[in-house]
Amino acid sequence: MEKSSLVIVYHRQPYEEVVENGRTTYRENRSPNGIVPTLKGFFGRIDPGRGAWVAWKQQSPRRKETFERVIRIEDSFGSYAVSRLPLTAEQVRSFYHVTSKEALWPILHSFPSLFRYDNVDWPTFREVNRLFAEAAAAQAEDGALVWIHDYNLWLVPKYLRELNPTLRIAFFHHTPFPAPDIFSVLPWREEIVESLLDCDLVGFHVPRYAKNFADVARALCGADIERRVAVEAGMSPTGFALSEPEVPTLLGHRGRKVALDAFPVGTNPELIAELLEGTPRQVMEASIREELGDQRLIVAVGRTDYTKGTIEVLRAFERLLERRPELHRTVKLMVTSVRSADGMDIYRETQRNIEALVGRINGRFSDLRWTPILLFTNAVPFDRLISYYRVADVCLTTPLRDGLNLVAKEYVAARAGAGGALVLSEFAGCAIEFPEAFLTNPYSTRSMDAALDAALDMPEEEGRRRMDAMLRTVRHYDVAHWAAHTLERFGEIGVTAEPMPRRAAG
Ligand code: UDP
Repeated sequence: MEKSSLVIVYHRQPYEEVVENGRTTYRENRSPNGIVPTLKGFFGRIDPGRGAWVAWKQQSPRRKETFERVIRIEDSFGSYAVSRLPLTAEQVRSFYHVTSKEALWPILHSFPSLFRYDNVDWPTFREVNRLFAEAAAAQAEDGALVWIHDYNLWLVPKYLRELNPTLRIAFFHHTPFPAPDIFSVLPWREEIVESLLDCDLVGFHVPRYAKNFADVARALCGADIERRVAVEAGMSPTGFALSEPEVPTLLGHRGRKVALDAFPVGTNPELIAELLEGTPRQVMEASIREELGDQRLIVAVGRTDYTKGTIEVLRAFERLLERRPELHRTVKLMVTSVRSADGMDIYRETQRNIEALVGRINGRFSDLRWTPILLFTNAVPFDRLISYYRVADVCLTTPLRDGLNLVAKEYVAARAGAGGALVLSEFAGCAIEFPEAFLTNPYSTRSMDAALDAALDMPEEEGRRRMDAMLRTVRHYDVAHWAAHTLERFGEIGVTAEPMPRRAAG
């Protein structure tokens, strides 16, 4: 099979696999938003028709490898190869559910007290990362760009560099990156950082994460910070929890140069506007409005994860109902806490706590005509979700820590021109883009109460002004802008590409 000039390594497969009449077919992901379509957009820009994607696929426990390892996909993004790395259920459990989620995830999100080490099998983590590197190397021609995504593949760069030193290696973190004191809790810290220093380019959402990485690389591995630049004026250089006036952009280590990049992924406001204009969405929106009557809607949307701060949101809402009885029957909180398929204890416990708290608050305040909280534990399809956004007067997005948070951006895009209020955690990466939001510290009950009161009491005109300013940001820093920016950075490490047209990604 022909080798590729761009290889994307991401743990999820880039399509939905469905079995119809006993035949397996590969359908383009139904949800048009999200990172997968954005990444596939790069196949059309770098040497079209010569791209490959590497992901894992669980192999059956009895028969060894029952599926074709490399297949060719033709979809609206063009033609590209997909290499499926067969992993056993035990490898997936150990590498993904245990090491990634119980040990690495809490550290990345600055929750060292939740770090669980006992069940980690580091040799399996290494082995799976090595297998990913081998699968990627098998697809890549000499000099190709291999673009690796996320922390569960942290050791891939090291193995790739050994397998083929001619490759250009880029890595993007979709999560936060913690300060050295927290990162240093990881017993494998040097091995991880040395591997990342084998990249040509390491990317993050915001300058603080790039700075934390540079500090870690300097402290643990002696890397030199060779260049720093002032951050763009639009990225709140001072005054907020994640503000950074400068960002390091080049490290030197063992005679190699490692470029750093910090640029937040955007959403696709044009797609959201198109969806909202369609008749099905208008019917949906009208029916939500009718059911709500004259109640105001507050939405809080996210996965079940302790980092998302859903418990803190529910407590803030309970305090609001205690503090302001005049709001009873006039507001409703819609919460989505999308259950994780992983079946991990920590998520099960978070889910149980959320369900219990919703039950307690509803039990305390409901009457025949009014139930204050509506909880969804299954994912709300994206097109329905944006109808809720469109109707919601307030969006409460207050994670304790979040790499970026797309929900906040989607809410702003969906409200286009209709005012509203975004209550946003200072600890979500996108907070640096939205000084016009009601920024709040979710660790402080006073700060949460003040932000919620201010959002609910804000004059309509002020809401429109704030939301219009945020909409300009969402439209400017959209997903196509992120893609164009990323291609420019690829250019700096010697990868030539067609420029990204403004509307192509997404
Ligand atoms: N989402 C969805 N249905 C739901 C809840 C969330 O489609 O019921 C989508 C949401 O629109 C967003 C994504 O899931 O695009 C969540 O992304 P975010 O960056 O906010 O958080 P993550 O889950 O990646 O940490």
